[in-house]
Amino acid sequence: MAFVSPGVPADLVHAVRASFRSAYGRPADVVGRAPGRVNLIGEHTDYNAGLCLPVALPHATCAAVARRDDDRVRIASRQEPRMWEGDLASSGPGHPTEWASYAAGVLWALREAGHAVPGLDIYVDGTVPLGAGLSSSAALECSVAVAVAKLVGLEPSDDVRRELAAACVRAETEVAGAPTGGMDQTVSLLARTDCALLIDFDEHSTRQIELDLEPAGLVLLVTDTRVTHSLNDGGYAARRADCEHAVARLGVASLRQADLVDVEGLADERVRRRARHVVSEIARVELAVRAIEDADWARVGDLFEQSHASMRDDFEISCPELDAAVETAVEAGAVGARMTGGGFGGSSVAVVPQERVEAVARAIDARFAAQGFRAPAHLRAVPSAPAGICAD
Ligand code: ADP
Ligand code: MG
Repeated sequence: MAFVSPGVPADLVHAVRASFRSAYGRPADVVGRAPGRVNLIGEHTDYNAGLCLPVALPHATCAAVARRDDDRVRIASRQEPRMWEGDLASSGPGHPTEWASYAAGVLWALREAGHAVPGLDIYVDGTVPLGAGLSSSAALECSVAVAVAKLVGLEPSDDVRRELAAACVRAETEVAGAPTGGMDQTVSLLARTDCALLIDFDEHSTRQIELDLEPAGLVLLVTDTRVTHSLNDGGYAARRADCEHAVARLGVASLRQADLVDVEGLADERVRRRARHVVSEIARVELAVRAIEDADWARVGDLFEQSHASMRDDFEISCPELDAAVETAVEAGAVGARMTGGGFGGSSVAVVPQERVEAVARAIDARFAAQGFRAPAHLRAVPSAPAGICAD
């Protein structure tokens, strides 16, 4: 049974500073750190002016950064063999095309926002699994963003954090070319320890929801199915297009304004199911917030189950591995489980009694082995702190 360790924060900072020094032959000026995330409920609602409820993971990415005297940029990662090198002016929409686009894109977006970003050397290292639907991409962007913000003298107020999140969204959509609705960057920058973050994409507001699972003896178990989701493979774009179609047919500003009665009147059967998922999912987020505030975990479990069924049957973004992880978690004692993230692979999240965590993880491993799936990886998702600067 494999659990992915978040690592010891001080060790990670030490390691990224050492890697920086051996890559560039000088010390880093500053280290930024940003967490990955797991969304508790509210999937494909961000681009529909809806609601979602992510928590920051203890797993994070660190970016060690130092200013240069020229306009060159060098970006290296412990997770990628190839260093990228270019000029500040050479990154922008479509450039670079490789992994470094997520980091170079942030420099471009901050320059676009009027900040005097200098030439930089950057080294990143982290513990967020890549491509697992736990937002290693936003962790990378936000770790670079907070480090660069520090170098250019920006104090990390909530307003600055929102501005940095917007820059990271631009980096991912316009430079890396991966569509994103903004949930990942928002929670990475605005999360609080022991809280989930309720994000309202209509009002552009956030609210901290205290998430105290410990008194109930519960924990969050995340299972990475190791099926790499890809937001670029057309499934995501097709879902967005169906949602836009529903909005046009219903004559509303967004699916946030639609109700289920309106949706049932949509003529196209597939578009009707897509819209039904979004509208019902937004309602489930509100219900889940109330249930969490009431510490009604059985109700949270029911909402997880309904959410998973909606994603599997109406939105059609699950896959056999995700369905197996969710079903097995519940059979083995989870209070509730659902797939999380954009879908077509990635991870599931379950609310599990503390003493059942290992048994649930083992049961999922056994089911995956029996079905001939790749061995999954598990994470304990303790609601953690937002992006920030690491102490030396
Ligand atoms: P997710 O965000 O769910 O992990 P994405 O496909 O959105 O999946 O982003 C994963 C991509 O982000 C990786 O394939 C890689 O290009 C880039 N990435 C994320 N973290 C790192 C890292 N530490 N080093 C290098 N590239 C990274
Ligand atoms: Mg991502």
